[in-house]
Amino acid sequence: MRVLLVGSGGREHALATCLARSPGLTALYAAPGNPGMASVATLVPLKADDVAGLVRFAQEQKIDLIVPGPEAPLVAGLADACAEAGIPCAAPTKAAALLEGSKAFTKDVADAAGIPTARWERFEEEAPAIEFVRRRGAPIVIKADGLAGGKGVVVAQSVEEAEDAVRRLGMPLVIEECLVGEEVSLFAFCSDDKAVLIGAARDHKRLGDGDTGPNTGGMGAISPPPAFGREMQEKALDIMVRPMLAEMVRRGTPFRGVIFAGLMLTTEGPKLIEYNVRFGDPEAQALLIRLKSDLLPILAALAQGSLEHAAAEFSDEHSISLVLAANGYPDAPKKGGRISGIERAEAVPGVSVFHAGTKLVDGVLVADGGRVLTVCAKAETPEEARKLAYEGASAIQWDDKIFRSDIGL
Ligand code: AMP
Repeated sequence: MRVLLVGSGGREHALATCLARSPGLTALYAAPGNPGMASVATLVPLKADDVAGLVRFAQEQKIDLIVPGPEAPLVAGLADACAEAGIPCAAPTKAAALLEGSKAFTKDVADAAGIPTARWERFEEEAPAIEFVRRRGAPIVIKADGLAGGKGVVVAQSVEEAEDAVRRLGMPLVIEECLVGEEVSLFAFCSDDKAVLIGAARDHKRLGDGDTGPNTGGMGAISPPPAFGREMQEKALDIMVRPMLAEMVRRGTPFRGVIFAGLMLTTEGPKLIEYNVRFGDPEAQALLIRLKSDLLPILAALAQGSLEHAAAEFSDEHSISLVLAANGYPDAPKKGGRISGIERAEAVPGVSVFHAGTKLVDGVLVADGGRVLTVCAKAETPEEARKLAYEGASAIQWDDKIFRSDIGL
């Protein structure tokens, strides 16, 4: 099969590594990809959300399967354009991708499907939103009703902070009850009303140790999350995902692809925080380094609306993904630092390094983004995986490297 992988982050590098192992693969292209992916894929200088460009390339190159990594191409309608052009694409349509593209849509689907979630209300005007916040009090959660790269949510601890967020995020908004508990991310392959469990991970969203500082795209993950084993994951799939899939079928916009359900494990049981319509980054890296099955037939079947082969086999190990970011991330990451030591990191047993924000300048690898690399490790125990990931991370050097020291704790 000739495959076009879309995206350029650590998640896509991990996907590329899995696809490259497949005996069924004859050619792998990555648009736009990154320097790490260049060893297993041919890089194509097309942006991830350039739907027309991607479809044209796929037609010219007789691509058999498109695998989108990030959400932007899905919300931009890549799967719809592929369907029109007759190119198999392992991802949801634009209508189904609204599960990630609009918070209000998701809440509405969750309510219709009877899925436990925080009580919520949508606002189109500032004055009633402010009035609502004052009436309800803090803590309270304010969410921009659109794609915001993980930065459109404020968990306000005071009414003043909530009012500020209402003014800053602008309309429309979703305001919801603040849930308390441990967060987990649940992943499944889905087609129409059927879902097959992939696994679960816990992401660390905040920049600083002890979950402090601003929200980021994610600074690291552990898989499986402590105290959220396979049996609980299967149960959560029944409560949080399958009813949603049935509701999407009922609405005439069935979901096909990878679903990522963000859950809060509250004292009243699990509650839905959000859906994403693709693998998470850096959760994907932690999950995929334990994948034993061939990923290509799974995704190829999924693109045809079938879950054949989807019961993928994962090793029983524990894994950690640790993001090495550039100082200044998420607001103003410092670029240009020369990176060394990746080979030494990968010489640590069980360690894999995935590129995200890197660039080659005259043959020299430099930092070129917020999240620069993901160092992943797998081992028999979470403690051992953690130790190996940090050993790998310390082998990698550049001037502005930052990372959390408590991933997986
Ligand atoms: P989202 O973009 O919806 O995933 O929100 C980003 C982060 O905000 C989540 O990962 C949670 O940590 C937090 N969050 C979102 N909604 C709630 C809620 N209702 N209660 C508490 N925390 C929340």
